[in-house]
Amino acid sequence: MDFELSEEQKDIIQAAREFAEGEFPEIAEECDRNEEFPRNLWKKACQLGFVGVFIKEDYGGSGLGFLEHCLINEEFWRVDPGVGFSILSSTFGSEMIQLFGTENQKKALLPPLVKGETITGAAITEPDAGSDVASIATRAVPEEGEYIINGAKTFITNGSIAHFIQVLCLTNPEAESRHQRHSVITVETNREGFEASPLKNKMGIRASDTAELTFTDVRVPRENMIGKEGQGFQQFMVFFDHTRPHICAQAVGLAQGAMEKAIKHVRERRQFGKPLASFQATQFKIAEMATRIEAARNLYQKAAWMLDRGKPDPKLISMAKWYGGEVAVGVADEVLQLHGGYGYIGDYGIERLYRDAKILEIYEGTKEIEKLVIARSLLGKG
Ligand SMILES: Cc1cc2nc3c(=O)[nH]c(=O)nc-3n(C[C@H](O)[C@H](O)[C@H](O)COP(=O)(O)OP(=O)(O)OC[C@H]3O[C@@H](n4cnc5c(N)ncnc54)[C@H](O)[C@@H]3O)c2cc1C
Repeated sequence: MDFELSEEQKDIIQAAREFAEGEFPEIAEECDRNEEFPRNLWKKACQLGFVGVFIKEDYGGSGLGFLEHCLINEEFWRVDPGVGFSILSSTFGSEMIQLFGTENQKKALLPPLVKGETITGAAITEPDAGSDVASIATRAVPEEGEYIINGAKTFITNGSIAHFIQVLCLTNPEAESRHQRHSVITVETNREGFEASPLKNKMGIRASDTAELTFTDVRVPRENMIGKEGQGFQQFMVFFDHTRPHICAQAVGLAQGAMEKAIKHVRERRQFGKPLASFQATQFKIAEMATRIEAARNLYQKAAWMLDRGKPDPKLISMAKWYGGEVAVGVADEVLQLHGGYGYIGDYGIERLYRDAKILEIYEGTKEIEKLVIARSLLGKG
């Protein structure tokens, strides 16, 4: 057993930290206020090799693992969740192509994502189908060499800025199992009949684009199917094994950054003639935060390490996703509390972290769904 990160991994952490600390603070508040995607910084991060590190060298990536992707996520979120998420989620959905795409699809679609020429997304959620993925109703009907797609998706990250999106569609409604009725189809966003409306006024991660999508007789070639017809549900479950560890890494980054702000504040702020840090109640809060953060960090690092060794453990991955989100939300709350009134006022950057944290318990599987996965693996489906 060896808990030591490699020298290369430590260098990646250092480089990601320097980049985030050097570039994010200047634009973070403005991106949050104006709900603006940091386009220039995303391009720069791509040029510097921070984006899509899990993409294999044959497809333009650096051929590192999901653990390295997680480490970069942690460092970016430590400085600013909104900016960090916007940059690194530009490849969200590419995992599906790398896992299940044909050689042609991988060669065509993956390299431009790493270079910062394109942005992608993954569209599962619909207005009437969230946690219950198998009830998705966006319909793709085959006609000669094409699929004709009709339906609506909602809450789609990068929906209005992506160049192409992996869309979960109902293709085999007659299949006996509701888990064999769907397929994943790549839809280029310049196709006729595709529309995206940005969803404004989000609580947090406001630099990130989130949109509603509508598909009205959108025609795509049959070759746009990713993987096998009828296997879309299963493919997305495998996809989530590859993406959920980095949500825990996002949570650890947010919590770590928030705790560091709290440590600075309680050392400087004096009440009753002493620094807040001298009160035992404060010391306990810091000790508890640090312990929870370290536990969550160990969960995502083990989950990603196993994934990179070809041994994904869905139970462990769900534990990391649920626990990480809970830690981030709890730490953001405690850090705001330690800042008192200053924490509540926008200028100090703490309330932004409090707002940013909540999404970690919602997207890519709510905390309740993660607990269902954990419980089912222990108790069976019941
Ligand atoms: C900012 C943002 C970005 C997002 N990005 C994407 C994206 O890129 N692509 C995408 O496809 N989706 C995306 N989503 C959608 C997100 O994944 C869903 O919101 C999430 O899966 C929950 O679905 P829902 O909102 O429909 O809630 P529901 O499924 O309606 O759930 C509501 C509540 O009921 C609980 N619940 C549901 N079923 C059960 C059950 N069986 N047992 C116990 N509790 C249950 C849930 O845990 C939740 O607390 C995004 C959402 C947001 C807010």
